[in-house]
Amino acid sequence: MEPYLITAKNTPRLMDFDASDTSHFEGGKKDGLAELAKLNKKLESLQEILYAEHQHRVLIVLQAMDTGGKDGVIRSVFEGVNPQGVRVASFKVPSTEEMDHDYLWRIHRQVPGKGEIVIFNRSHYEDVLVVRVHKLVPAKVWKKRYRHICEFERMLADEGVTILKFFLHISPEEQKERLLDRITDPAKQWKFNPGDLSERNHWKEYMHAYEDVLQKTSKPWAPWYAIPADRNWYRNLMVAQILVNELEKLRMRYPQPVEGIEQYASQLDPNAQSAQA
Ligand code: AMP
Ligand code: MG
Repeated sequence: MEPYLITAKNTPRLMDFDASDTSHFEGGKKDGLAELAKLNKKLESLQEILYAEHQHRVLIVLQAMDTGGKDGVIRSVFEGVNPQGVRVASFKVPSTEEMDHDYLWRIHRQVPGKGEIVIFNRSHYEDVLVVRVHKLVPAKVWKKRYRHICEFERMLADEGVTILKFFLHISPEEQKERLLDRITDPAKQWKFNPGDLSERNHWKEYMHAYEDVLQKTSKPWAPWYAIPADRNWYRNLMVAQILVNELEKLRMRYPQPVEGIEQYASQLDPNAQSAQA
């Protein structure tokens, strides 16, 4: 069984979904952090092989309500991974140029190339989330987007992109604590955006919009995982575990060395050798 994997049959009702669940790990926070450190190491070597092999492309999509922990996942799960092979693409309110194009235009240019891991901090899913909740386009426009998105992701997968999507699910109570922190902690105040308070008032609508996203766009070639995210350590652990499992399934290998590589050792320093002879 794959914990938190969304399939057509088991889309959760998010209002009943326990965001503080930690049932898929037998220890508490201390053991969880130790386990995460091990997974960080595994991810580090998997990423190195991915880069060396230069065959697979990996796309990780992160979506969450404000304070849900997208930045925390990027920081903690990828700790130790070589920054040369990992790129973060953050999607904000579209620029004028982006608005002049279709909504997938800015997305497609950021997808990973061979040997690369790209993390989407928000994504094309905003175009059926914030856009739907705030009625930025008519319903008949955003309703068609689930199909576009499934087909777009299918195309990417057919072309060799491994897609993993994470919805980091926090409870409104936990969000309240985190927003309060942002208001009172001088080191976090820079993250505070008064707009987050009005977004919070649309909680139910967002949950409905997320339920539709999960139900309509979790596919075997681009699965969604709904991760309980009230506990940071558990959230990071679950995301890291899923990533490691999925990357291991790719059975990546270092590329074959050049023919007769052993002989090159003796050519390393020919002068020194002839001097010795
Ligand atoms: P943050 O990730 O906190 O820096 O905020 C980025 C903001 O951009 C969020 O409020 C998103 O909802 C918003 N955003 C991202 N993509 C879109 C989009 N396609 N249309 C409208 N707003 C968006
Ligand atoms: Mg924000």
